[in-house]
Amino acid sequence: MASFSIENFGCRATQADAAAIERELRLSGLARVREHADAEIVVLNTCTVTAAADAQARDAIRHVHATNPAARILVSGCYAQRAPEELAALPGVEWVVGNSHLGEIPGLLSRAIQEQPGSLGAGSSSIIPIEALAVGEMSLARGPAKILTSDIFEQSAVLTGPASAEDGEHTRPTLKIQDGCNHRCAYCVIPFVRGNSRSLAPDRIVGEVRSLVAGGAREIVLSGINLGSYGRDLAAKISLQSVLRRILDETPLERLRLSSIEPMDVTEDLLRFVAAEPRIAQHLHMPLQSASNRILHAMHRWYRAEHYERRVELIREFVPDAAIGADVIVGFPGETKGDYEETRAFIERLPFAYLHVFSFSPRPGTAAANLANPVPPAEIRNRARELRALSAKKAAEFRAAQSRRRHLALTLNRQGENWTESLTGNYLKVRISGRHRTNEWHEVVL
Ligand code: SF4
Repeated sequence: MASFSIENFGCRATQADAAAIERELRLSGLARVREHADAEIVVLNTCTVTAAADAQARDAIRHVHATNPAARILVSGCYAQRAPEELAALPGVEWVVGNSHLGEIPGLLSRAIQEQPGSLGAGSSSIIPIEALAVGEMSLARGPAKILTSDIFEQSAVLTGPASAEDGEHTRPTLKIQDGCNHRCAYCVIPFVRGNSRSLAPDRIVGEVRSLVAGGAREIVLSGINLGSYGRDLAAKISLQSVLRRILDETPLERLRLSSIEPMDVTEDLLRFVAAEPRIAQHLHMPLQSASNRILHAMHRWYRAEHYERRVELIREFVPDAAIGADVIVGFPGETKGDYEETRAFIERLPFAYLHVFSFSPRPGTAAANLANPVPPAEIRNRARELRALSAKKAAEFRAAQSRRRHLALTLNRQGENWTESLTGNYLKVRISGRHRTNEWHEVVL
């Protein structure tokens, strides 16, 4: 039996894609091994959201080839979709498969193994044709939040039923219910590598949730590239909220978490719903990007700082203990010290629980790639460093504000001598005393 290893880079949507690839490869008879050094075939599912993400993927390919020169490397995902030739030129890369053809990977590898049994030297690269992604039904992707960790194999003991055998060993699987995006933010390459928005049919979502729950999942993370646009492309239009309602009514899932959702999709209705439903995690991650209206306009974002702030106020009003997270980009072309300062002061003022800070890097083909007035790299680094420090301060304030609150926490797979890491609905990682099995609920007072 041929062996494979797999590693994922990037967001929850790519994690779900990687999990689907892993599941399909297992079903097609390949044996998963943990280390790339032991694998005959290495799958690297890439991200291309920043230049740093590209560099990370190239480094990983070089490292795999250096440590396991016999490995046949397959590169998939967003970077593969955007720049296949660039990846095919790297030593050791045998196949490059874009997002449009992820479903063909098992067949491709099965044929390659049959045609070249035992011949595992690096061959010339083949690029699977890349096609437009805007058409067709969305393919299903679901899987564990983390694909390659040292201890996911140990978790299988607490999962029972069919999905545990199929999906690997995990506690908080990601279910991708939407892919692609109809927006064209000036800095963003994602619509070019994932196409326009498309949604998984509600019946399939309910079926997948049931199957994951039957396999032991107690919390599921619903993900999408633009989750708030869920259902708008379906012939029978349906809102995100309606599909959440169906999941809660038609499955015994114990906790449902939403991944990132655009601020204007965080409506009062949605918040009332979250507030009234203890099975939905009190956690909203809303991309901010900038709090300078001039920069938001240049980014082709469709809201302004005051709209975003109103959403934060609504969250505080309806779901007071919710964790509020945000993505922020520093160094967008033309971002002056004054623009940056507006963003910093805005974040300082609002009750964020954490930030994801990104340094702007021009992405080929995007509107921002050729903009004038680039911010000097050293200044971008300074701004990113400052916002990361601010993020740590906000996180500490959020934790302090949660002191003595009572929460239900789900045990994760990290343990010390006398503690077990657990996750609350409002996204606090906490240590509870004692060593406990993964995937157990514990009521905790922080
Ligand atoms: S909303 Fe904007 S940033 Fe988000 S995926 Fe779409 S184009 Fe990219």
